Amino acid sequence: MKALIVDKADDGVTATIEKIDEARLPEGDGERMVTVRVTYSTVNYKDGLCLTGGGGLVRTYPHVPGIDFAGIVEASDDPRYAPGDKVVLTGWRVGEAWWGGYAEKARVKGDWLVPLPDGLTDRQAMAVGTAGFTAMLAVMALEAHKVLPGGRPVLVTGAAGGVGSVATAILAKLGYEVAAVTGRPETADYLKRLGAASIVEREALASAPARPLGKETYAGAVDAVGGAMCAHILTLLEYRGSLAAVGLAGGAALEGASVIPFLLRGVNLLGIDSVMQPRENRLVAWERVATDLPLDLLETMIDEVPLEAVPQLGRDILAGKVRGRAVVDLSL
Ligand code: NDP
Repeated sequence: MKALIVDKADDGVTATIEKIDEARLPEGDGERMVTVRVTYSTVNYKDGLCLTGGGGLVRTYPHVPGIDFAGIVEASDDPRYAPGDKVVLTGWRVGEAWWGGYAEKARVKGDWLVPLPDGLTDRQAMAVGTAGFTAMLAVMALEAHKVLPGGRPVLVTGAAGGVGSVATAILAKLGYEVAAVTGRPETADYLKRLGAASIVEREALASAPARPLGKETYAGAVDAVGGAMCAHILTLLEYRGSLAAVGLAGGAALEGASVIPFLLRGVNLLGIDSVMQPRENRLVAWERVATDLPLDLLETMIDEVPLEAVPQLGRDILAGKVRGRAVVDLSL
């Protein structure tokens, strides 16, 4: 089978497409294993790290990255899955600590899979992928904290990226007024088509806040950028507003943050983790994706590529150059 293998080299890691024997797929340890013929995978920010050896995510080489995939069950020791079933995988450190979706086949624990959600094709499910699934979790977290349509605008940072694009489209469809933050002004038309009501230039929020509290401007935020921007947005949330912290594309340290917004405005900082989400939550979030994300807009986010394009896309996504969702078609 064809697989993208990353391996250790003197000056970092290599990423090459190879033909390998299927018998090399991980066996599992007496777990209920399922072998899947992968139809689609995607390129996420974390894949960029795994492909380039960044972040210490991959510990054992040689390795097949790809943190998500959709496909068709080929063989199963798990009674919940039979050959021919369509399935989706995100999270559980697959693609990091376990061989992932950048190969024609994958073998994973049945517990890690969910059935392909009703109303989505395998291609659409991967256009959503880890980034879009996480965007849905972030929107659900805001809803649970009473950030609802009809109020002040909701910010989406890293808006032209994967998480940001899907979050913008979902929030707009649900009736929120979305203020999309981007460092790429040329993506403004794209973001407006996804439903953004206004565009905020990244520079306006990129540096640490000048004051511990600013004007109450936003009801909430989906933040894929982190760093000083996250600290800055916390000072601009309305009383009891909430920020769903999803990512760190702009840095991990909350430079300039203080406890003042929490003490004087009762704001909430909500951590979003898609990796270890329990199965029940996954099923609910995927169902919501299928109903709350306009599929015609999803189509405008997709850049469909062969496996051969993945190593370069990994570098591009770390450099913040990828727009929307890069979907890998394993049949190309
Ligand atoms: P993308 O690269 O597709 O999107 C990130 C976006 O952030 C870019 O498109 C860019 O948007 C903006 N950006 C990039 N670099 C910088 C910078 N230095 N400063 C400010 N903004 C920047 O990645 P994803 O959407 O796939 O992932 C986004 C983040 O979310 C990553 O950190 C990822 O690891 C994390 N993540 C977390 C998950 C979880 O479970 N918590 C799951 C999935 C992703 P623009 O050009 O519009 O400004």
